[in-house]
Amino acid sequence: MEHFSANKGEYPRMEDKIRSVTYSGKLDQKGIDLPSLLCPVCDTYIENVNHVFVRCELASQVWDRIFRWLDMVQPIFLSIADIMDWIVSMNCSLKRKKVLEAIILTAMWVIWKYRNNNLFGSVNMKRSSMM
Ligand SMILES: [Zn+2]
Repeated sequence: MEHFSANKGEYPRMEDKIRSVTYSGKLDQKGIDLPSLLCPVCDTYIENVNHVFVRCELASQVWDRIFRWLDMVQPIFLSIADIMDWIVSMNCSLKRKKVLEAIILTAMWVIWKYRNNNLFGSVNMKRSSMM
């Protein structure tokens, strides 16, 4: 994943990039036949970028653990843009924002890796290996 700075306005572009490389809904719109549009992790909701990285039960568990580890109250996030806006709006040093940004991006990478490994990999990753 490419680096981006904590300047307001850059995060939506990141969300667009993530959205552009995913999801079943986009493939379905292009007429590509898929066995299911549901999230392969929870098999309950339609897979889209905000579901996978924010709303899915797996993502929720990851964010919950991260905020406990950070000893911070977890804000309510409904989208990746909410997370990125939260970092930008933090009243803290730029250095701390960069650290939070790195933690957030690492968490998203782990969620993405878990999803892809369980979807396409030969060996299923255990959830406990993420936490
Ligand atoms: Zn899900």
